[in-house]
Amino acid sequence: MARAINTPKVLMQSGIGPEDELQSHGIPVVQHLPGVGRNHQDHLAFGCTWAYRKPEAVGGSGCEANIYWKSDARLSQPDILQCQLEFAVPSPPETGLETPEHGWTMFNGLAQPKSRGRLRLSGPNVNDPILIEPNSLSEPEDMAAALAAVELCRELGNSNGFSPLVTGETAPGVRDRSGMIDFIRRSAVTYWHQTSTAKMGRDTMSVVDNELKVYGIEGLRIADASIMPRITTGNTMAPCVVIGERAADLIGKSHGLSAQHEPVSSVG
Ligand SMILES: Cc1cc2nc3c(=O)[nH]c(=O)nc-3n(C[C@H](O)[C@H](O)[C@H](O)COP(=O)(O)OP(=O)(O)OC[C@H]3O[C@@H](n4cnc5c(N)ncnc54)[C@H](O)[C@@H]3O)c2cc1C
Repeated sequence: MARAINTPKVLMQSGIGPEDELQSHGIPVVQHLPGVGRNHQDHLAFGCTWAYRKPEAVGGSGCEANIYWKSDARLSQPDILQCQLEFAVPSPPETGLETPEHGWTMFNGLAQPKSRGRLRLSGPNVNDPILIEPNSLSEPEDMAAALAAVELCRELGNSNGFSPLVTGETAPGVRDRSGMIDFIRRSAVTYWHQTSTAKMGRDTMSVVDNELKVYGIEGLRIADASIMPRITTGNTMAPCVVIGERAADLIGKSHGLSAQHEPVSSVG
């Protein structure tokens, strides 16, 4: 459907969502589903940057390597993901940090964020923008993972192996713990991996069932990032393709058609 941001907007403006939210905008309630717009997740990102000694050529995709890492070895799966960007990504202005003309950024993300955000309507009309309250870093585990992620970057980027390539670190630089927390809060941006705002499940906050059907509404399915009960550890595009393929199978089957797909050979 319309992605994890616009799907809840379309649903709520059509009368499907939390009744108090709908009523506050004068939208007649078609189906009370309190989970619409809740459970927002994203791989929150913050970049650590080094200045190159001289301009370096950017390879095929600009991101030739990813790292998945655990902030604590006892975790069952990685909670940190890093994309190695072969160019310097500007930190948000709030950090007050200069971006080198030529450089390299380790783009950190929280692979398994614990914080949950919320989407709200600003009005009942199609041109009324959705309000995003990501609530990022509200859970202490997320800040702990973010601190570990920055520490890992700094250990790698400042190691001897990179010294022929770089003149030095430009973000975040040497800081004490509270300075590092300040850097993380000011530099945090979306990874554009928003998910889970109309989740699949069986509890009262679920929006779709295991066939992607919206509870209480005949003939409506959702097939996009919003149905993920929780965000994937890795990038979100390929899982969304799988959701779309699954939706095609389910819809085909409900119309007595058998699925005939070309295999997906590569995903970006
Ligand atoms: C800048 C950027 C970079 C990204 N890079 C990567 C990456 O490198 N790797 C990766 O795995 N993921 C990446 N992602 C994330 C990935 O694109 C998404 O997770 C994925 O596309 C989500 O799929 P979806 O089907 O939920 O939504 P989408 O792919 O966004 O599809 C939603 C569709 O709904 C349409 N739509 C929206 N609103 C309405 C409406 N009101 N009415 C009708 N149609 C509507 C949109 O035009 C769009 O065609 C990136 C995202 C962005 C924004």
